[in-house]
Amino acid sequence: MSQDTVTMDKIVALTKRRGFIFPTGEIYGGLGSTYDFAHYGVLLKTNVKNAWWQTLLQERDDVVALDSAILQHPRTWEASGHLAGFTDPLVQCLGECKRRFRADHLEPGTAVCPVCGGELSAPRDFNLMFETTMGAVQESGNKVYLRPETAQGIFVNFKNVLQTARKKPPFGIAQVGKSFRNEITPGNFVFRTREFEQMEMEFFVPPAEALQWYDYWKQARFQWYVDLGLRPDHLQLREHDADELSHYSSGTADVEYLFPIGWSELEGIANRGTFDLTQHAQFSGEKLDYFDPNTGARYTPAVIEPAAGADRATLAFLVDAYDEEVIGDDTRVVLRLHPRLAPVKVAVLPLVRKDGQPELGREIVAKLRKRGLQVEYDEGGSIGKRYRRQDEIGTPFAVTIDHQTLEDQTVTVRDRDSLEQIRVAIDALPDHLVTKLSAEWRSPKLDA
Ligand code: ATP
Repeated sequence: MSQDTVTMDKIVALTKRRGFIFPTGEIYGGLGSTYDFAHYGVLLKTNVKNAWWQTLLQERDDVVALDSAILQHPRTWEASGHLAGFTDPLVQCLGECKRRFRADHLEPGTAVCPVCGGELSAPRDFNLMFETTMGAVQESGNKVYLRPETAQGIFVNFKNVLQTARKKPPFGIAQVGKSFRNEITPGNFVFRTREFEQMEMEFFVPPAEALQWYDYWKQARFQWYVDLGLRPDHLQLREHDADELSHYSSGTADVEYLFPIGWSELEGIANRGTFDLTQHAQFSGEKLDYFDPNTGARYTPAVIEPAAGADRATLAFLVDAYDEEVIGDDTRVVLRLHPRLAPVKVAVLPLVRKDGQPELGREIVAKLRKRGLQVEYDEGGSIGKRYRRQDEIGTPFAVTIDHQTLEDQTVTVRDRDSLEQIRVAIDALPDHLVTKLSAEWRSPKLDA
């Protein structure tokens, strides 16, 4: 299968060619490591985010949603430690190329620039937060930061949520949104960019239960990727060594995926203890704890945080789905995306643009849309070209209308993966497709 044939270059080319992801500002020569999501990319990433929301909000009742602002009060970043400590060690080439590198990404002991061989500067701490000013006048005191993570917006709302959500620990607050980091060395397509989307959840628990919940979320988050079709032998959970841990963490594990660039982090699950709530309580003077009316105990909850990247996950799903299949003399490129993630669920393709086929096609599209399916109608070009296009965007089913359709009111349904074609009566088509698609949507977890 595909893993040997897929490269980052092929994914970049496919996503550009088929309209998933474009380089930002391409007509001006591009803006380094910044990307715009096009039609199919928007549909795919939205499905990834919806799948995340669904497992947390719809399938359980101990998590609530939040959408906090990108611009938070500047004190937030003092309390969180980002202002002082959200840095990467930067070294710069003092020779010809003047390139900048993350010292911890170079081979240990590297003394010269790996690009031009020039002398390297001593490492210095480089803060990754983007700064801007709030209001019309640029003066000191109105400096704000684009959030480098969504998590802090959750902690500063802890009290408000606790008072309104009718939840008590263990419970979680989940949020999806843009984060910004002035990465020293972005790259590898959308794996590491300076503007990206995160899917984060802070799960507040009685401190004595922290370890148990840490284990629970590691397993649950690993399983989420398996349920959505990533091959399990290309996924691993890696526990951080003590010297890798962030200042707030007493345990962190990464869900890693075998990208074409090697094993790399998809998501981090951290046991943050009581660090964040304690810091914000101290900096704000507010009480950020929980009073348990049953036991009479007052305590600061500990926090387990699964933090994922929506763009990085989207890239992993694309890489994992990419396949080149030889059929006779031909090779087809096919994205074997999980049907739940596929941008388009069904393509409706009249064989010819006459004899009432387009009209019937439009009727079928309307029927399928009424059932909530993302459908695409395409009547242009040879049928082979149209199949190829749908394969490359990962559409699970193609419905073809041909001369027989007008005689017996049946269509062919082509399966993206097996290429099997069966005839189905038009009347039965919506039920047939909805049943097939939703049967495959059911996560194995729910079947148990
Ligand atoms: P890395 O070590 O790769 O820099 P991190 O450990 O700093 O990542 P976290 O702060 O744990 O990352 O962020 C949680 C998730 O957000 C990551 O697992 C990743 O999916 C995503 N993420 C972080 N930084 C970026 C980025 N620059 N571009 C795209 N996604 C990112």
